Amino acid sequence: MNFEPTEEQQQIAQTIRDFGKKAILPHVMEWDESQEFPVSLFKELGKLGLMGVLVPEQYGGSGLGYLEYVTVVSEIARFCGAIGLSVAAHNSLCTGHILQFGNEEQKQRWLPKLASAEWIGAWGLTEPNTGSDAMNMKCVARKDGDDWIIDGAKCWITHGKSCDVAVVIARTGDVRDSHGMTAFVVEKGTPGFSGGKKENKLGMRASETAEMIFTNCRIPAANVLGEVGDGFIQSMKVLDGGRISIAALSLGIAKGARDAAIKYSKERYQFDQPISSFQGVSFKLADMATEIEAAELLTLQAADMKNRKVKMTQQAAMAKYYASEVAVKVANDAVQIFGGYGYTKDFPVEKFYRDAKLCTIGEGTSEIQKIVIAREALR
Ligand SMILES: Cc1cc2nc3c(=O)[nH]c(=O)nc-3n(C[C@H](O)[C@H](O)[C@H](O)COP(=O)(O)OP(=O)(O)OC[C@H]3O[C@@H](n4cnc5c(N)ncnc54)[C@H](O)[C@@H]3O)c2cc1C
Repeated sequence: MNFEPTEEQQQIAQTIRDFGKKAILPHVMEWDESQEFPVSLFKELGKLGLMGVLVPEQYGGSGLGYLEYVTVVSEIARFCGAIGLSVAAHNSLCTGHILQFGNEEQKQRWLPKLASAEWIGAWGLTEPNTGSDAMNMKCVARKDGDDWIIDGAKCWITHGKSCDVAVVIARTGDVRDSHGMTAFVVEKGTPGFSGGKKENKLGMRASETAEMIFTNCRIPAANVLGEVGDGFIQSMKVLDGGRISIAALSLGIAKGARDAAIKYSKERYQFDQPISSFQGVSFKLADMATEIEAAELLTLQAADMKNRKVKMTQQAAMAKYYASEVAVKVANDAVQIFGGYGYTKDFPVEKFYRDAKLCTIGEGTSEIQKIVIAREALR
């Protein structure tokens, strides 16, 4: 396998580095402190073609593949994990679900607006009492004439308040029946649909995470994605791709923390020498280099398989599991290398440390990834 970045990937990375230096980096801590979700930034990212990376050009997207998508998410996350998370959720969850399972009319209706970032997308699976155990969801949709009426709540939803459109998975059959759930598209302004509480989080603070509430919310049958009863199975497929996103996000955070740690270790002198000359420090840098490379190879393997439309459930779970745990470890070691300065907000590593932790939780915890990996191994 040759995973040398193509010329296109290198150009994308350079574009994001140039853009990130002027439009993201100066605001990172201000957005983090205030928990501001910078909607206008996403409009700018839309103009660069980064909000519809995988969407074919005929629907207004960039028509790129998963390897380029990994470049996009990881390069953005080197600047700010929260912006990377929002870009990932918009691209691979909401947009990705409509792209994979929408009919032609639905794709024409929603994808151009999402790909240009005229509309921000959300994707609602998780509920207050059902995270890992999504099949037990309580949010229901019942048929009423030609329409569906949704009642219930979703929580922890990226862009749950600010979204213009959301893909929502609701129960249309029996509890724990994998064919008992259906995916609906719900537009902002639909009566009975509102955003709820916004979470006050440890990290990823510039990425909005909020409840979505549905009260007697009437949705036309034309907004059902795919077949009635296929919502859960569709979601698992969407999450296979989504896990590549979180692996890429983890990779970007780990690289950002590593770069900061290398630079600091060469500049900081103790005992009349740079701290990088101490084996105790350089061995941490060696572990970072090795583990980031291994995480990158797993991520690129899953992305390449996704491009080739080969089943990659296990590889996506491996990439997500390993890369996210590496991000937490690298960020932790980076804080250690910075010593007391690493514990302050004057240096970037404390934020990488806080942001990294989400990666072992969102889109399936590390434990759930291990369940997926073991299930495939035991087949
Ligand atoms: C910042 C953020 C953004 C998010 N964005 C979205 C979004 O856009 N859309 C969306 O639908 N969801 C989103 N989520 C929700 C996320 O996917 C869930 O938080 C995650 O799936 C875990 O669910 P939970 O929080 O309910 O934890 P739980 O499922 O309650 O798990 C608690 C603990 O128990 C463990 N556990 C559970 N079951 C098992 C088991 N069978 N074996 C071993 N261990 C187990 C878990 O690994 C975990 O350690 C987001 C979450 C966060 C924090």
